Amino acid sequence: ALYGRDITFDQFGKYNLLIRKVLEAVYMNCQERSDDSADFRALEEYLKRVWFSNGIYHHYGCEKFVPEFSKSFFINAVKSLSPDKLPLAEGETVENICDKIVPIMFDADILPMKVNKKHGEDLVCTSACNYYEGVTQKEVEDYYNAIKVNDGNEPLSHGLNTSVIKCSDGSVKERVWNIDGKYGAAIRKIVFWLDRALEFAENDKQHKVITTLIKYYETGDLSEFNKYCIEWVEDTDSLVDFINGFIEVYDDPLGMKGTWEGLVEYRDTEGTRRTKLISDNAQWFEDHSPVNRKFKKKIVNGVSANVICAAMLGGGEYPSTAIGINLPNADWIRARHGSKSVTISNIISAYNEASRGNGFDEEFVIDAETIRLIKKYGDICDIIHTDLHECLGHGSGQMLPGVDPDALKAYGNTIEEARADLFGLYYIADEKMLHLGLLPDENAYKAGYYTFMMNGLLTQLARIKEGRNIEEAHMRDRALIARWCYEKGKADNVVNLIKKENKTYLQINDYLRLRELFASLLTEIQRIKSEGDYEAARVLVETYAVDINQGLHREILTRYRSLNIPPYKGFINPVLYLEKDAAGNVIDVKADYSESYAAQMLRYSKVYATLI
Ligand code: ZN
Repeated sequence: ALYGRDITFDQFGKYNLLIRKVLEAVYMNCQERSDDSADFRALEEYLKRVWFSNGIYHHYGCEKFVPEFSKSFFINAVKSLSPDKLPLAEGETVENICDKIVPIMFDADILPMKVNKKHGEDLVCTSACNYYEGVTQKEVEDYYNAIKVNDGNEPLSHGLNTSVIKCSDGSVKERVWNIDGKYGAAIRKIVFWLDRALEFAENDKQHKVITTLIKYYETGDLSEFNKYCIEWVEDTDSLVDFINGFIEVYDDPLGMKGTWEGLVEYRDTEGTRRTKLISDNAQWFEDHSPVNRKFKKKIVNGVSANVICAAMLGGGEYPSTAIGINLPNADWIRARHGSKSVTISNIISAYNEASRGNGFDEEFVIDAETIRLIKKYGDICDIIHTDLHECLGHGSGQMLPGVDPDALKAYGNTIEEARADLFGLYYIADEKMLHLGLLPDENAYKAGYYTFMMNGLLTQLARIKEGRNIEEAHMRDRALIARWCYEKGKADNVVNLIKKENKTYLQINDYLRLRELFASLLTEIQRIKSEGDYEAARVLVETYAVDINQGLHREILTRYRSLNIPPYKGFINPVLYLEKDAAGNVIDVKADYSESYAAQMLRYSKVYATLI
């Protein structure tokens, strides 16, 4: 099998790798000296957050972490290190390193956001993510608009694997991430492991997938990436599969640059039986959805649906990981060759087990009856909604001919996620769920509706810092849906927010009317996507999905804090050992889960860091 190792890139900020290395050196040195000061403990927490987020910005909220240790403590700690513990470049001193990283870590005004999506600002200049150097948003957009003119009907994912830089003569150009370009040292390692994986390919198709991926990494040629995506989609037989490359574009304010991620997975056969049932009925779902007929696919192509177990996480999927993935991202490949969709069952069940009995439902759900409903049906609704979102939602609908797939620009990701969520919400309440045996009875979907609305209106605010807006695309999507339905249903009293002892609770009075509201919004969102209606997307997102009522936010934060639940969960990779028989043949792979978070991160830094 192929191992997805943690290869840490600096995509989330120019000095992220350097900061991580220096923090680790200070951390180990303080530990050796048994430092137990408050400053050290704060540095330890800060470092753990840097590990978690692959940098100094919150992985979801995008805001910069505020160090709770003093600047002087940090500078003294760095200066007391022996220089061989620091990644000093030629001719560089400890002072140089401090000059580089201390202002970025401690000055709240310098690069405060990883990804800034605030309308009207220069999103390139004000985002800290490390994809652009010396260029403005306008220069980047002009550059790509000029290239896109030549797009045929199999367009490349322009800019996916490049940095955009300003040359000394004032011109704008791209620096490719390939074996000889930027990140070459890390990409050579990836190619080395892919090469080793070739000898274990399950079948010819998978062999071809890996060969093409290697070629893409070597050349950086995006037409190779398209070929790879098509071959990867078409390999539906392999029991072991992987995602590997510069894939998701959420960490770029312009939604073009891919974050590196790696995931090795194997099939969950029982779960896959369930999603196969959904995808076998894909055409029925497409035909019966409430959207306008001209935006529907006449023939829904190859919606493959696999439930998988993650075996190893890397890059943007580690240690915080998605619970469902739908790829490839290029719309034309999805339309002509289909898409591959997975839900990651061992991750979902770990999340569910970890949250059982933490008091969350008791605090936020309106009454005992609804709590019972959620306890009974919550998990299965969650699973089916995710299946529908990933297997059908993202793959449904079609663009009108000639519409630019990037027409919605910074609002594109939010609209796309809302589309997939609404598709799932609409159908979990459909009789078809009972006919297919996916949900046990006609009340089950209510648990899914309640938790979705509660999350979108109230509880997801617990994951955002006081004073901030909603930034992340999935969170904006949930707020957009929940708040739009709340407002549109107000006259008919569909959904209420009521106060009991100064606490706000969600009350759903009419589940069937709520379903109709989901249907209307789905219809409108599909129209926006299909027509590339930027202005409508902007108004929807800016009206419903960004701002937060400060009083409500404070209330949710206070109630949530009282439960003492960590806001995010992440995963530690198992350490895998080969078990051999007396003759030296491999007979099994044993997974060891005893490595601690800090030990794993330090080990990865030591063994696999290639870029610093
Ligand atoms: Zn999605």
